[in-house]
Amino acid sequence: MTAAHIDGLVLTSLPNVRYLTGFSGTSALVLVTPRDFHFVTDFRYDTQAGEEVGDLAIIRIEQQSLWTGLWNLASSLTGLEVIGFESAHLLHRDFQRLLTDGTRWQWRPQVNLVEALRESKDADEVALIRHAGEMAITALKKTLKEVRAGQTELNVAGVLEKALRDEGSEDFPFATIVASGPRAALPHARASSRVIERGDLLLLDFGAQYKGYCSDITRTVVIGKATDEQRAFYDIVQHANALASKSVRAGMKGQDADGLARRYIEDRGYGDAFGHSLGHGLGLEVHEAPRLAKTVETPLSAGAVVTIEPGIYRPGWGGVRIEDDVHLASSGPEILTDFTRELLEVA
Ligand code: ZN
Ligand code: ZN
Repeated sequence: MTAAHIDGLVLTSLPNVRYLTGFSGTSALVLVTPRDFHFVTDFRYDTQAGEEVGDLAIIRIEQQSLWTGLWNLASSLTGLEVIGFESAHLLHRDFQRLLTDGTRWQWRPQVNLVEALRESKDADEVALIRHAGEMAITALKKTLKEVRAGQTELNVAGVLEKALRDEGSEDFPFATIVASGPRAALPHARASSRVIERGDLLLLDFGAQYKGYCSDITRTVVIGKATDEQRAFYDIVQHANALASKSVRAGMKGQDADGLARRYIEDRGYGDAFGHSLGHGLGLEVHEAPRLAKTVETPLSAGAVVTIEPGIYRPGWGGVRIEDDVHLASSGPEILTDFTRELLEVA
């Protein structure tokens, strides 16, 4: 805040609020000053704010609107002239409030102030992500035992999501992807009513959430016996995943990390079939800083947890992606999703 020349910062991003205060509800405004955290929420969260935020912040329960609470609060504080707001997390409607109701302060847009703090995980956060990864793997093992030709992708997603819940997952960090046969060529397919057939590639991309922290894992399997062509494709992705997972390091530029897998895939002639970036940061949100992509020159922070998810896709035929979650520890990369990357033939 000192470097940004602001006397206060209004937080409107709920993941940022959660990171700094522990609050997991869905209604909160936080004003950070050099001295205190001021936390504004509504009646529904009175008890929860007390339990989760506790003495960390000065809590105000607002009866009208959170913004009314914020104006009353800010008016009562001295030394506040320039206040930052999170320009990536403020609705236009709420921005208008700054211009109409907040005229006694100067407003300065800020990006990534809290996100930058979130990038590097401490040991407790890594443990939570690791646990979310273990939940996902256990759920996957259970699911693979039940997958059969003749089921729909939605049936499989149901089995997987039930297993995730049974393992204690609080939520699904994103809509579970189950993509079979030619649909495996759609990198962000959702599960559909397509009936899975013998010989299909089946791609599962999903995650668990534990105490707010997410895992994100992908495995691609074959229903029945794999063909030589499927195996050849799979081997390229498996090798690219292994190369990147063992070589990615903190301090490396995002684009150099991306290149670890991309160069190998390009050298085999499939560069055009790997159309997305290699990975993303993982934490309270399933997509957060840093990014491992061709255009990113920012170095990866020490302690970040990132995904490594190379994939190649052939429209009309299918696709293969293998995704793991990796902690960039000072001693080197540490894989948090330890489950086989060999091609599994199921059912
Ligand atoms: Zn994923
Ligand atoms: Zn991912």
